[in-house]
Amino acid sequence: MDERSSDATALLGMDGFVVRAMDLVDGEWWLLVETRADMVGCPDCGVRAIGHGRSTVQVRDVPIGLVPVRLIWKKRRWRCVDDDCARQTFTEASDEVEGSLTRRARAEICRAVGEDDHTVAAEARRFGVGWATAMAAVRDHGKPLVDDPRRLHGVRALGVDEHKMLAAGPTHHTIYATQLVDIDRHVLLDVVRDRSAASVTTWLSSRTRYFRDHVEVAAIDPHAGYFKALRTSLPRATVTVDVFHAVKLANAAVDDVRRRVQRETLGHRGRNHDPLYGIRRLLTRAYERLSDKQLARVEEALRIGDLYDEVGGAWAVKEQLRCVHDAESLEVATVRLEQFYELAHTAATPEVLRLAKTIKRWEPQVLSFFTTGRTNARSEAMNLITEKLRRNAHGIRNFENYRLRLLLHSGVQWHTRPTARIRGRHPRLIA
Ligand SMILES: [Zn+2]
Repeated sequence: MDERSSDATALLGMDGFVVRAMDLVDGEWWLLVETRADMVGCPDCGVRAIGHGRSTVQVRDVPIGLVPVRLIWKKRRWRCVDDDCARQTFTEASDEVEGSLTRRARAEICRAVGEDDHTVAAEARRFGVGWATAMAAVRDHGKPLVDDPRRLHGVRALGVDEHKMLAAGPTHHTIYATQLVDIDRHVLLDVVRDRSAASVTTWLSSRTRYFRDHVEVAAIDPHAGYFKALRTSLPRATVTVDVFHAVKLANAAVDDVRRRVQRETLGHRGRNHDPLYGIRRLLTRAYERLSDKQLARVEEALRIGDLYDEVGGAWAVKEQLRCVHDAESLEVATVRLEQFYELAHTAATPEVLRLAKTIKRWEPQVLSFFTTGRTNARSEAMNLITEKLRRNAHGIRNFENYRLRLLLHSGVQWHTRPTARIRGRHPRLIA
């Protein structure tokens, strides 16, 4: 072997393979490779086989730098010389290669889809393979990571959130899923179909007894189904409804009032130049995050479009609910919650009264938030991740693929080695 090909072999770094030749063809590295095996036994009888020519397969490997790599593997064929053996010829195989991809190329596709949130289609393009081949790589390398029971060890605070997997379209209703989150460690534990008591109960009953006994807090979407599931499956856990979920309800009420008032005063749904429609996003944003200019816009729009102060009333009620959650103690929170009810009854629109009723029904869970010392703000972050992934994949329709991708992105620890900083280290080389 000449020096050039032994350097190339070292760079390739694939166990058992040597590079015999290389060439840059159409912007790709073409590497002619073969195995070192020059002596093999027959897989059936073990008698030493003799060479019987070669066959060539082409395999895609991970890129070198930005340059795609194609391995031209001259596979050895062997012939068994034992006349009594049924096996006549056989071709060598390697664990390093699977189908049209190297093992590490398949692992890289899985990592890029999981850790870097690339789409399967983008990775298929990067490696010059079909979507199904890339997806199979994600599945084969990703499933063991996702199924690793250690992912679920030591969960003490469980978040249970609904999210939209797929918005309604011409052929289907909105499809919901439920995600289960480790609130303390900010890890997605699992995703199950629907948003029902049954789906959460099934998931919890598939966990170990140890798991169920060690969850202390469960923070949920205020949702009767989830509550029922947790009361029965995790009787020892404190169930809380956190800021994010309560405020989500309040924002929905503000939105409902705004839409109704728009319809009643204008006779149609919101349009771009309608004053209330123009401030719809500002109304659901936190008050302290509005600039002076935005606040002035809100006040002006309410002056023009909210003749009976219904939207403004709902807005104030929502902000009061946010104050409850900013409270530093249970006592302060209780006082502020009373003020919230009073304000809601003063506003007295049907949407706001319904909100007050819902909060009243969930009051113990809203207040228990202050005794557990845990916020579910992190599952809010998790929701945003889900949103991003969903948009990226243009709505994944296959639930198992959807679950796998979410878990690979937010539920698995990737041990990608950080690249060493280029400065501050003296080269150890060799001229
Ligand atoms: Zn044989």
